[in-house]
Amino acid sequence: TPTATAQVGVVGLAVMGSNLARNFARHGYRVAVYNRTGAKTDELVRAHGDEGTFVPSAGLAGFVASLERPRRVVIMVKAGGPTDAVIDELVPLLEPGDIVVDGGNAHFPDTVRREAALAEKGLHFVGAGISGGEEGALNGPSIMPGGPAASYAALGPMLEEISAHVDGVPCCTHVGPDGAGHFVKMVHNGIEYADMQLIAEAYDLMRHALGATPSELAQVFADWNAGDLDSFLIEITAEVLAHTDAETGKALVDVIVDEAGQKGTGRWTVQAALDLGVPVTGIAEATFARAVSSSVPQRRAARDLPAHVGTWDVADRDGFVEDVRKALYASKVVAYSQGFDQIAAASAEYGWDIDRGAMARIWRGGCIIRATFLDRITEAYQRDPGLPLLIADPYFADAVGEGVAAWRRIVSLAALNGVPAPAFSSSLAYYDALRAERLPAALVQAQRDFFGAHTYRRVDKDGTYHTLWSEDR
Ligand code: NAP
Repeated sequence: TPTATAQVGVVGLAVMGSNLARNFARHGYRVAVYNRTGAKTDELVRAHGDEGTFVPSAGLAGFVASLERPRRVVIMVKAGGPTDAVIDELVPLLEPGDIVVDGGNAHFPDTVRREAALAEKGLHFVGAGISGGEEGALNGPSIMPGGPAASYAALGPMLEEISAHVDGVPCCTHVGPDGAGHFVKMVHNGIEYADMQLIAEAYDLMRHALGATPSELAQVFADWNAGDLDSFLIEITAEVLAHTDAETGKALVDVIVDEAGQKGTGRWTVQAALDLGVPVTGIAEATFARAVSSSVPQRRAARDLPAHVGTWDVADRDGFVEDVRKALYASKVVAYSQGFDQIAAASAEYGWDIDRGAMARIWRGGCIIRATFLDRITEAYQRDPGLPLLIADPYFADAVGEGVAAWRRIVSLAALNGVPAPAFSSSLAYYDALRAERLPAALVQAQRDFFGAHTYRRVDKDGTYHTLWSEDR
């Protein structure tokens, strides 16, 4: 048996795990490494052994024995069954006080279940959302660890060290107990769906309205990246649109099949939002827009349906582009506002006590939605930690208010000219619904009472009421 010298261990050495192990090693930690298929362990040590101190093991028992106590084990294997299989094999080898981190993309109810099971054995289980793909894992991801607060003392400083840093501040903090970390990572991915869809709609509208080429639009996005919209996704959109297909000489975006895939985190976010009763319309429309794009038989069947569309007639091209930019910004604020509402709702429901401002702070680096704009969100929650609605914060209220006329013009023109803009238009509808003094929900309540005696409340007195709508029903 090896002597217990390693400070942290990584189980699962595919792209994510091996890059994370290298990240630890490059920061001076002695890293125990193990993979079910031993060849991957050997390959990591052979190719990158010079980057730091790796302690390889061919079996899990040797791996565990090579770790200092309390042991810190990071599991980076396929989410779902494989993660359970590794946990089941690992747990009998561990001792009370040891910390097991699941850095995979677990669904948060699985994390809640695993933490409860390990807590019974005196072990700390930490479901940690890790964002940023393989590049992030190697050079600094955004890390969203959940699990017991007590485990963070032994684990947090190490994770903070290997995380991305922005202005010297780590993109890692303790999110909250049990499933909180994976929940926040899930909502982060949902917001990413909304962000991407909004950018895609902005691009599509400008392309139709202005007849602009992808390379012309690349410049628009590059310009936008110098302002409020400064973000990784806007930056890569400019690069993507400027990219030419080597084979055909066409814009690459025009050669790519227009059916968007998904691995499921957007869907999880929407499902969880439905369970919590939180309207995340931006994320939902983005998730459904991918589904619509992939509804191949339906799209084929609909191709010749009547359209009655107008013709674009844009006299002021720069004005139109500026309107689209404002509509994009306002819709983006709505999507984030909704995502943070979902985090607040889950935090209240499960007793997680999540600091929303801190979540915006740890998303500033190492992840896909990194953006300057997140600083404004952190500031908003610092001004008012109990803020009931992000768009009601003075900064965002001004920013959205300044763009709302442009937003209406763009959504109207999109409808008149038959260009789908589901995320733009649903975000505006949400904004108007929240603003409305009276909603037709009163009529819905009346209908519910009519057919199901569901009762309603009155505006002028307390209590619940039922109307005898018709004598002969
Ligand atoms: P992956 O393809 O999801 O998983 C491969 C790893 O899982 C290999 O080490 C494999 O071992 C191991 N494995 C599979 N079934 C196993 C079992 N029954 N018992 C033991 N080990 C098993 O790898 P990945 O792309 O590096 O991702 C790792 C985790 O990070 C996943 O949960 C993923 O969702 C998450 N994640 C990935 C990304 C990304 O960009 N790829 C980003 C964030 C999070 P063998 O070599 O023996 O097959």
